[in-house]
Amino acid sequence: MSDVILTINAGSSSIKFSLFSSDALREIIRGQIDGLGTHPRLVARENGEKVVDTALEGETAPTDHTAGVAVILELLRERHPDYAVVAVGHRIVHGGPDFEAPVAIDDAVLDRLRAYNPLAPLHQPHNLSGVEAARKAFPDAVQVACFDTSFHRKHPWVNDTFALPKHFYDEGVRRYGFHGLSYEYIVARIHELGLAEDSHRLVVAHLGNGASMCAIQNGVSVASSMGFTALDGLPMGTRCGQIDPGVLLYLMTERGMSPDELTRLLYNESGLKGLSGISNDMRDLEASSSPDAAAALDYFVFRVRRELGALAAVLQGLDAVVLTGGIGENAAGVRHRILHDEDWLGISIDPERNAASKLRISTDASPVKVYVIPTNEEFMIARHTARIAADAPSPA
Ligand code: ADP
Repeated sequence: MSDVILTINAGSSSIKFSLFSSDALREIIRGQIDGLGTHPRLVARENGEKVVDTALEGETAPTDHTAGVAVILELLRERHPDYAVVAVGHRIVHGGPDFEAPVAIDDAVLDRLRAYNPLAPLHQPHNLSGVEAARKAFPDAVQVACFDTSFHRKHPWVNDTFALPKHFYDEGVRRYGFHGLSYEYIVARIHELGLAEDSHRLVVAHLGNGASMCAIQNGVSVASSMGFTALDGLPMGTRCGQIDPGVLLYLMTERGMSPDELTRLLYNESGLKGLSGISNDMRDLEASSSPDAAAALDYFVFRVRRELGALAAVLQGLDAVVLTGGIGENAAGVRHRILHDEDWLGISIDPERNAASKLRISTDASPVKVYVIPTNEEFMIARHTARIAADAPSPA
């Protein structure tokens, strides 16, 4: 039997998973179950090729995370009977003010993480259901929590707070920042690629369905566009991004919207989808001739450019910019619109390198280097999990 590490990212109706060899951290398989509780479907890929794509129907269709993890376990046993899962790394959205680094999960840690449920009610309880399901399915494996927030815990206070009475900060109402595993991975890649010497003042734009930007000084996050929740900052696929809180007061008092209705509006019906009325998917907007799709794109580009200027001010200048996430890695047209006339910031883009999504898309003469680097949050989780599992006593 060879030892392997499983990563799990449990959402409200989905479980994403991947399997890595525990020594070389080579990815063996990755996939997801979507539609838990409604029309569950299992998709898995090995070496980029789809190896499974099945609707999970009938009595055995998983309805919750425990059943979903059991399906994944079954798949792994079928396809890779020689592998033994020795550790499971979990993506946990919230580590609150305390968790500055990944941690092995025991009952006490799980209780502390449950206390953060109110800080991320749409994500944290599902993440923790994934942990409970994995503990049942893999009782002998070390379980590790890897947080989206911990990379940002060293923010200076001014970037960690809102201008509310101080007791709110003390009870946890803070600018936490998210996508930390992605940013951490990018910083690690910058080092591996030998680019760190030219990247002391770095802005990373993680532009996917969720989108945020982060100012990183000498490898440490100093500011992020996301705040208390993953709603703040840039407009996203279906999330609004920065909004005047007075709009929410208006919607509640004048329109009588309930907390549930507001939640649905801000998380599911806004952003690119809300503005365009067509889709949350950048590819659909780029392909559309609708003026509303064009307006949604204009807004997205404008807000990214505005945030880039703000984060450059935080860093007092820029050495490098990285674009990542589905849009950052693939949407050359969007990248061009964000960056082509940013000479005032020291950014000069090479249109051919950009169109080809080269690692470096800035010109040789550009004072600020601009890179396109694919992110890999699962790999980051696997790396943390391997390190912690090596030190942790087995729960068995
Ligand atoms: P998530 O936040 O769910 O992980 P991704 O990082 O996969 O999301 O990003 C999804 C976004 O990336 C979608 O808006 C999708 O349209 C966009 N995207 C992916 N490939 C391309 C492409 N070739 N051109 C333009 N946009 C793309």
